[in-house]
Amino acid sequence: MNNNYDVIVLGVGSMGSAACHYLAKRGHRVLGLEQFEIPHDQGSHAGQSRIIRKAYFEHPNYVPLLQRAYENWKSLESDTGTQVYFPTGLLYAGKPDGVLIRGVKESAEKYSVSIEPLNSSESKIRLPQFNIPDSYDILFEPDAGFVTPERAVLLFVEQAIKHGAEIRTKEKVIEWKESGAGISVKTDKGTYNCAKLIITAGPWASQFIPQLSTKLSVTRQVIAWVNPKQYIPFELGKFPCWLIDDDSKPGMYYGFQVLPVGQMGGPIGLKVAHHYPGTVTDPNNVNRISSADDETNLIYALNKFLPEGYKSMHVLKTCLYTNTSDENFVIDFLPGYDNVVIAAGFSGHGFKFASVIGRS
Ligand SMILES: Cc1cc2nc3c(=O)[nH]c(=O)nc-3n(C[C@H](O)[C@H](O)[C@H](O)COP(=O)(O)OP(=O)(O)OC[C@H]3O[C@@H](n4cnc5c(N)ncnc54)[C@H](O)[C@@H]3O)c2cc1C
Repeated sequence: MNNNYDVIVLGVGSMGSAACHYLAKRGHRVLGLEQFEIPHDQGSHAGQSRIIRKAYFEHPNYVPLLQRAYENWKSLESDTGTQVYFPTGLLYAGKPDGVLIRGVKESAEKYSVSIEPLNSSESKIRLPQFNIPDSYDILFEPDAGFVTPERAVLLFVEQAIKHGAEIRTKEKVIEWKESGAGISVKTDKGTYNCAKLIITAGPWASQFIPQLSTKLSVTRQVIAWVNPKQYIPFELGKFPCWLIDDDSKPGMYYGFQVLPVGQMGGPIGLKVAHHYPGTVTDPNNVNRISSADDETNLIYALNKFLPEGYKSMHVLKTCLYTNTSDENFVIDFLPGYDNVVIAAGFSGHGFKFASVIGRS
């Protein structure tokens, strides 16, 4: 067996699967190494849906990247004949001077992203499922929606293999080191050599990048699927994605539609989560059991903003954020190396960018 590759991708999750696809498509000899199955629910890409939006409250500098991400998701769809981007629209709500509303308006204005302001009575007519406090501004981004993480990862990997990449699952990387002009990568099953290494190890990244060990913090995040009082008003096609900056709690609450499980896979129900770093955790030893506090926090948001949205809790799952101190991503050559690239620290908002980061 020839163990020499142009590029090894360490970690075939969100960013790594996309990188394998685009590199193989360009004709490189690629090896992707993944410690679990593809996809899996131990890292950051599980859970049916990820919001995609262009009026980026975090910073307008992300918008040009997002414009390319949208184009690349569309190309993946046309290459594979499979839908991964669902333009459901997105409702934003929050205090006019809060970080969400100010940031959405700034990005929309700078890059002419289409957003519609809704006054309280318009919102009640168009989106009667919501109960938004009168003191909040409401904005609607029609081209926002969600992308399907597990499906997208699988499609990237399938395309990568079609273009000649080798993908090894259930093979854990132990270490990498310089070897002559290249890099050698040792796993629990063998040793491989490459001219270039890409480290996309998500929550495990700092294990391979000691320089980042004090700069990345991995947190446990909880997602819930609940049974709403009525299903139909919350189904795909009838209800948008939403992101609400609650003025009495840190972070933001967000959620999705009831998705058709026959088409999308489970769990069943209305998905809701809190975008705020949770408890710091070791990715190898995550407490996957939900607590009463986890439930109470999410039920609070549903009762406050979607009064018909909560009847009973269906499923709670955990997922991991890998946070930087300013919540911006780390994408660069590893200092001191011109043949090792790192992409990590996506701070709970990276998935929508996988199609552009993997291609870069
Ligand atoms: C609850 C939740 C909600 C989110 N919501 C959104 C959202 O709405 N919109 C959005 O854009 N983003 C969202 N995100 C963020 C987004 O999902 C992440 O930023 C993104 O998935 C990070 O991708 P990654 O490639 O860094 O990590 P991952 O997808 O976890 O991939 C890393 C891969 O590396 C593998 N790996 C690690 N170590 C090794 C090793 N030693 N050997 C072999 N393989 C290894 C892992 O097994 C894993 O498969 C959310 C995240 C969570 C947890």
